Amino acid sequence: GESSDAVNGDPRRRHVLLFPLPYQGHINPMFRLAGVLHSRGFAITIFHTHFNAPDPSRHPEYRFVPVADGMSSATTVPVAIEDVVAQILALTAACEAPFRDRLAAVLDEYSKDAVACLIADAHLLPIFTVATSLAVPTLALRTGSATCCACFLAYPMLFEKGYLPRDMPVKELPPYRVRDLIILGDDEDERGGQARELVARAVASVKVSSGLILNTFDALERHELEGLRRDLAMPVFDVGPLHKFAPAGDSSLLRQDRSCLEWVDTWPPASVLYVSFGSVACITRREMEETAWGIAGSGVPFIWVVRPGMVRGSTPNQQELPEGFEAATRGRGVVVAWAPQEEVLRHRGVGGFWTHSGWNSTMESICEGVPMLCRPNFGDQMGNARYVEHVWKVGFEVDGELDRGNVEAAVRRLMTDKDGAEMRARAGELKKAAAECTGKGGSSSVAIDKLSRFGSHARN
Ligand code: UDP
Repeated sequence: GESSDAVNGDPRRRHVLLFPLPYQGHINPMFRLAGVLHSRGFAITIFHTHFNAPDPSRHPEYRFVPVADGMSSATTVPVAIEDVVAQILALTAACEAPFRDRLAAVLDEYSKDAVACLIADAHLLPIFTVATSLAVPTLALRTGSATCCACFLAYPMLFEKGYLPRDMPVKELPPYRVRDLIILGDDEDERGGQARELVARAVASVKVSSGLILNTFDALERHELEGLRRDLAMPVFDVGPLHKFAPAGDSSLLRQDRSCLEWVDTWPPASVLYVSFGSVACITRREMEETAWGIAGSGVPFIWVVRPGMVRGSTPNQQELPEGFEAATRGRGVVVAWAPQEEVLRHRGVGGFWTHSGWNSTMESICEGVPMLCRPNFGDQMGNARYVEHVWKVGFEVDGELDRGNVEAAVRRLMTDKDGAEMRARAGELKKAAAECTGKGGSSSVAIDKLSRFGSHARN
């Protein structure tokens, strides 16, 4: 069973064990990391939940070990973010005991001391606890930015200091305002308590580990990385952008519709707007309508990812897009359920990205020199948008209530105004900086070398 023979063939080969958090934005960086480590000669074993399980047939070179998670087969990603938080806590609790058995079995099977370490998503604290109790060294992967990690570390202090008003500048973490931080809510309230628990656990996972892996690069967050190295006193491996190192592995949970790539071929350079809100964020029907008519009114060509179920409260057979939109934009836009995003952003025809500001999307956009229109929803997205606008100056946030007028103006500002062109030029500079970091001798390449050596020595 499993492809263990393939990976166990060479008894000297060292194993890295991985455990991703089962959401698209966390699965992608973990699989990219797997690709990088595999290319460095490590045998890869991936533990995974049944919920959002990867497809082992797409990665015959890895071994997959399913871990019971207590979810029913009908479980989906919830619409409200508080429910996602609750789901993560339930899932990690359910996995703990089954993971202990699975890990013990794997350790029995692999030759002694052949397991270099376990790299787990920092949201999986119980997984770190189990590994540590079985004497497996751990490394924490955080799939957000360095500055987001610094925020997580700072939360106890922020609460103590009473940072409450939304527009208050957080002077310890410039340029953040309170509203840019992850909303943790009131401790009295159950959901607020769960969000705090999630953050506290992500910090604890990092602190019990021998090192931290971040999908970012030196030229983007040098100052923030320095701060983390100082505060955590452990190796921090800034190995990003991971997708530039990993072989084009496909860890997409949904089928990517590639037809949009040919379609962009027909448009002039930097003329097409790419619109996507990631794998989790949902919008209201009203926002959907205003966004659609605003995009239509702008006259800008577009590729729009409209995930089934993306509109809150829509029924399975209900049209997501407003009536008449397709006719109004025929020939000028394509709508797909899921796109090959990295390739879309890399395409020279694409000149702007309307994003929910997830960290993967932000990195993918920056590395292709594509400026962003940011509409953050929850979690680290507000902080990412803040950096995009105020630190890197490669985009801007569209805040407040959406109406077709302000959508149209924002799209024009990004795609056809001088302002947008300047942001595109700065994004081009960051693209170059990213290429230097990932090139030979660049900071991220050096960090991957260090991480590989760490894996080779961890248990020697
Ligand atoms: N993605 C994709 N096709 C799409 C939309 C998104 O392949 O149509 C990928 C995208 O490239 C990124 C991930 O899904 O790697 C989304 O991660 P992100 O952190 O941006 O957002 P999340 O989904 O976690 O909110």
